[in-house]
Amino acid sequence: MTLASASGAWLEGALGLLYPPVCQLCGEDRATAGEGYVCDRCRNRPGAVRWITAPYCDRCGLPYDGAVTGQFECGHCAGLDLHFRRARAAVVATDLILRVVHAYKYHRAVWFEPFLAGLLVQAALPELRRESWDGIVPVPLFPVKEREREFNQSARLAARLSAAAGIPLETRVVCRRRPTQTQTQLSRSARAENMRGAFAPTGVEWPRGGRVVLVDDVLTTGATTSACARALRLAGAADVCVWTVARGQWST
Ligand SMILES: [Zn+2]
Ligand SMILES: [Zn+2]
Repeated sequence: MTLASASGAWLEGALGLLYPPVCQLCGEDRATAGEGYVCDRCRNRPGAVRWITAPYCDRCGLPYDGAVTGQFECGHCAGLDLHFRRARAAVVATDLILRVVHAYKYHRAVWFEPFLAGLLVQAALPELRRESWDGIVPVPLFPVKEREREFNQSARLAARLSAAAGIPLETRVVCRRRPTQTQTQLSRSARAENMRGAFAPTGVEWPRGGRVVLVDDVLTTGATTSACARALRLAGAADVCVWTVARGQWST
């Protein structure tokens, strides 16, 4: 078993044996495998971990400064045809969070996984417990990309949330039909176009019913999760809500 394919508890045990308990961001303070090798000082630095609390857009979860009472939908969502009912994220995609996500996702820094999954679980669990859900679905990667990268970060985070929430993990209902361009440099409309038709139902029968939590690492414009939610709806899901670790901002 490689570290990238190891499951949660096994991973932390193995990492604890392999690496000294030192923070992998500052290299100074103590941080254990269970903490994802991110120390308290790095977590508590101003602006490092910013939990998303109300008020936020009821649809896309975009946080707002200032007072908003009652439910509201932000200006970005008003003109969009989003295929999920709503999206929520645990934290703002700050520099620290993006740095950790990047290392985890592209450089297989699996030691950060308990940190990222911990943020997701801590924020999502109380919310998920208010309703009943039939399955947790990760945003799939194109198979070639998954082989190159050796793991799907969304699938790993979804598995952690599934275990914590006691909601079954479902990875067979939708697939990625084609590889897509990296979206970081694309405008909002270009992202939507880039994702059009990227996901499809696999034909595997939906086994349990229709209320689904779709999981990804970062939500920026919602183009990826919306396209994936559309495929889930085509596969028979009655309701799709999205949870991500972080919420990014876009400038265009
Ligand atoms: Zn540190
Ligand atoms: Zn919105």
